[in-house]
Amino acid sequence: MSQPSKDLFKDIVSHCKEYGFVFPSSEIYDGLGAVYDYGPNGVLLKNNIKEYWWKSMVQMHDNIVGIDAAIFMHPKTWKVSGHIDAFSDPLIDNKDSKKRYRADVLIEDHMQKIEDKIDKEVEKAFKKFGDSFDEALYRQTNPRVLENRAKIDQIQEAFRIALENSDLDGLKKIIEDCEIVCPISGSRNWTDVRQFNLMFKTQMGSVADDSDAIYLRPETAQGIFVNFLNVVNTSRQRIPFGIAQIGKAFRNEIVARQFIFRMREFEQMELQFFVRPGEEVKWYEYWKETRMKWHQKLGIDASKYKFHDHLKLAHYAKAALDIEFDFPFGFKELEGVHSRGDFDLKQHQEHSGKKIQYFDPELNQSYIPNVVETSVGLDRMFLAVMSSALQEEIIDNDPNNTRTVMKIHPVLAPVKVAVLPLMKKDGLPEKAHEIFKLLKLEFQAQYDEKDAIGKRYRRQDAIGTPYCITVDHQSLEDQTVTIRERDSMSQERIHIDQVLEIVRARVSWNTILA
Ligand code: ATP
Repeated sequence: MSQPSKDLFKDIVSHCKEYGFVFPSSEIYDGLGAVYDYGPNGVLLKNNIKEYWWKSMVQMHDNIVGIDAAIFMHPKTWKVSGHIDAFSDPLIDNKDSKKRYRADVLIEDHMQKIEDKIDKEVEKAFKKFGDSFDEALYRQTNPRVLENRAKIDQIQEAFRIALENSDLDGLKKIIEDCEIVCPISGSRNWTDVRQFNLMFKTQMGSVADDSDAIYLRPETAQGIFVNFLNVVNTSRQRIPFGIAQIGKAFRNEIVARQFIFRMREFEQMELQFFVRPGEEVKWYEYWKETRMKWHQKLGIDASKYKFHDHLKLAHYAKAALDIEFDFPFGFKELEGVHSRGDFDLKQHQEHSGKKIQYFDPELNQSYIPNVVETSVGLDRMFLAVMSSALQEEIIDNDPNNTRTVMKIHPVLAPVKVAVLPLMKKDGLPEKAHEIFKLLKLEFQAQYDEKDAIGKRYRRQDAIGTPYCITVDHQSLEDQTVTIRERDSMSQERIHIDQVLEIVRARVSWNTILA
């Protein structure tokens, strides 16, 4: 029986540390704000997520190719893309606590609190009325629910207008009108709202002169746009086609408190899909559905995902939505799907003086393609996978018998199979080593002979290893071993000759890509 942890988020952070998934950066110097390192199991999981994305996008689509562009780019890129002028967040300080917040996040959290009040009200009513409870009717008619819903609608409308007009005073007014307090000081003593550019700036070369200023890329997309012509000229792709890339991005986030959800250095997995002008809506819908299916193939409960249309569009976007995931701290953006129009290519064409166009042989005409982008944060994906996989389980209905298990899809599991000799004697380790040697040619495998067998199973459960192969005395007599399945804990006796084939069939990419 699985039970949700009381404080899942805390448990994830400590599990990540204890089992070598994620460490704070430069921890011996007390860490660096919102920067993290991936440990031995973390890097394996992260690489598997990357591989799942890359294989699904590049290998499985004949019309998508990959690139790996440099992090440093010509500084003009960021002027032309609009990031120098417009890539900023509205920030506000509390004068008493001296803490800095994103004004939009304070307002969104406030609306969420009212939403939570509504849910509590509904829950109470459900308890009171039991099975005869008509939730939809209650939500439509209960005065307290209606009053709170009206409050949310009113804030939402003011919020939308302020965002659309980049009205910083308007945002402050909402914070004042809603009487939002600083969670630390509890006071409403706020500064004005200011814009804060999120790009990290540095210098290239030995002379620190502002004309040499370059930036750490805040998104990987621009590396794709500036390479559009190179790819068209070398890959024989015809529109519609896509360019995919996985790489680091950097943002000087104001509020960076949610572990690997919001980091200052993170990784993105991005696709820019180039289409004929006029066909972007069709492809936007296509990628919206395709990307949601990609997430759901991992076997994570579908109710954990939802679409969220953007209220305010980024400076480049024509339409945009988020795929949100139910993280331990609520539904938040996991992936963005954006219709970017021809904004980026057009800008680069205008400012580089190069003709960035595509000749469409079917239409016999040249044009600047429109772009549909899908962009998922690798680290957020890591957190989503972790938070849905990690479980505390009570075994045989005995509260004293529990295990921590990561029920992660086998293709993502850091270690696919562990080989365990029942005892450290009688030739069992030698036999186990033979099997281990064979398995590690194909999979990330682990050999473990330390501690009692039960303890070793628990260790593998805690890092999500889907299969354990145990070598016992019978193995020496009849060449059989047991294979234990992580989730059911069931054990089956199989011949040693079958081990490779069975593990291969169960952890192979075919199981998810087909
Ligand atoms: P948010 O609204 O949460 O700041 P965003 O809308 O700015 O995110 P995008 O610019 O659309 O994010 O970036 C695409 C993806 O990159 C996001 O969906 C997210 O998964 C990831 N991402 C963005 N910022 C960060 C960050 N600071 N840390 C980790 N991942 C991030």
